Amino acid sequence: MQTIAERLKSAHLRMEQATANAHRPLNSVELLAVSKTKPVSQITQAYEAGQRKFGENYVQEGVEKIQHLRHLDDIEWHLIGPLQSNKTKVVAEHFHWVQSVDRLKIARRLNEQRPSDMPPLNICIQINIDDEQTKSGLAPADVPAFIDELTALENLRLRGLMAIPKARPSKEEQIHSLQQLEELFTRYHTNLSDFDTLSVGMSDDLEQAIECGSTMVRIGTAIFGSRN
Ligand SMILES: *Cc1c(COP(=O)(O)O)cnc(C)c1O
Repeated sequence: MQTIAERLKSAHLRMEQATANAHRPLNSVELLAVSKTKPVSQITQAYEAGQRKFGENYVQEGVEKIQHLRHLDDIEWHLIGPLQSNKTKVVAEHFHWVQSVDRLKIARRLNEQRPSDMPPLNICIQINIDDEQTKSGLAPADVPAFIDELTALENLRLRGLMAIPKARPSKEEQIHSLQQLEELFTRYHTNLSDFDTLSVGMSDDLEQAIECGSTMVRIGTAIFGSRN
């Protein structure tokens, strides 16, 4: 059995290889460790191995872990799962990032409920890049109007885009979706300040994602093992 520290190291090696292959700087891609369903003891192990950014999918579980690990006050917590409007307050009060914003109502509530003594909440717009019925996310065509509304919300800081591309049988098809996402990202990245994050790529496809401009890969299984 490999330790979490060893698995983190392997993930970093894969990222290094992928950035080199894509002729991108090594530090242009960040690693978000996705700790959903995993106990705080494993998060602590990753922390001790140097990991500082963690992603959680479920609000209740995430908030409990944040409270439990308050003493590790340089952890950056990202919500990457669906968010219902009755949970926005507790999210605005605890998380540093919400990557799964795809409705204006949710964004407005987060903006109103962000405590005034906290820095602005970092936001990514979740994109439904493969137009899948079962997935959340905004259609690419709706992004311009959504961004106009979001940039008016003072307690939010719009950082970029997040997507979960469809699992495709071939690498070529996967790359096609990723390239569309990259195009959309680049359009705003060049014009909006702070719009610096393209969150895409997971345990199985981080190489393709980095080839197509990802700046943050979200890795769960390859660090913490499979989930039940
Ligand atoms: C679970 C999850 C991940 C991590 O997936 P792995 O395949 O375990 O690396 C990344 N992003 C989102 C949105 C997730 O829900």
